[in-house]
Amino acid sequence: MKVFLADEYGFCFGVERAVEMVEDSLSNNETVRTLGPLIHNEQEMERLGGSGVTTISEPVQIKRGETAVIRAHGVTPQVQQELQEKASKVVDATCPFVTRVQRLASRAANEDRHVIVVGNPDHPEMIGVKGYAPEHAFVIKDESEVKSLPKLKNPLVVSQTTIKAKTFFDTAEAIKSVAEGETQVINTICSATRDRQDAARALAGEVEAFYVIGGNHSSNSRKLLNVCKEQCERSFLIQTEDDIDPSDLSGLQRVGVTAGASTPKWLIDRVVARLEAL
Ligand code: SF4
Repeated sequence: MKVFLADEYGFCFGVERAVEMVEDSLSNNETVRTLGPLIHNEQEMERLGGSGVTTISEPVQIKRGETAVIRAHGVTPQVQQELQEKASKVVDATCPFVTRVQRLASRAANEDRHVIVVGNPDHPEMIGVKGYAPEHAFVIKDESEVKSLPKLKNPLVVSQTTIKAKTFFDTAEAIKSVAEGETQVINTICSATRDRQDAARALAGEVEAFYVIGGNHSSNSRKLLNVCKEQCERSFLIQTEDDIDPSDLSGLQRVGVTAGASTPKWLIDRVVARLEAL
């Protein structure tokens, strides 16, 4: 079996950085507790758990002597401060792309401008960003919600890092048409998701079967699967090498592999090794 990896796959920059920061703390023998699951991958969470990393859901659960980790999504300034007061050390693994959105929101709020963030208001990244401009920021899902906004003057429009570009630009246009003064639009979408989808699409026409490694409940992994299926009907979403059914591959010689932004390299290597052995 010949295995072809997509040009872009697996951990994005922000997730890789967060895992490395946790590993640095572990190598210093710190007691590491992350606020919320560090990463949406069951197997990687188990591996980190085996090294002593535990997850808390509220800052109040952190104790002196412990290291608190802020994950890539970021948190509000209040939560960050609470962690700093309680923990012996705070490791801020907020992805720099998310930090940029937080800073833009904070700056516009200081100039007394409205900040419209296009994204999911329940997503932890959005809750964190809103915390940087609590009186000025509104998080809306798409252009249909523009009519629910107050009267806007010189607003700043930014995006959740993982939304679709079309949703962002359509919403920005709708805001421009109702806002007074100058609407500043800054595209803060991160390309990690799109890059993985583009690379999978490029490979899908060249292989006879395709494996997407990722969580069953991960919407990013499901989207990757759909992209693969457009050109390669025999595409499967698997979590580990144990999910490969050799009978799906009988008579085939070329198989593609990709993985979502939360899938660790060690897991991808295992899948590739199993496929190559078939
Ligand atoms: S998807 Fe993009 S913004 Fe989110 S953690 Fe990864 S690199 Fe950062």
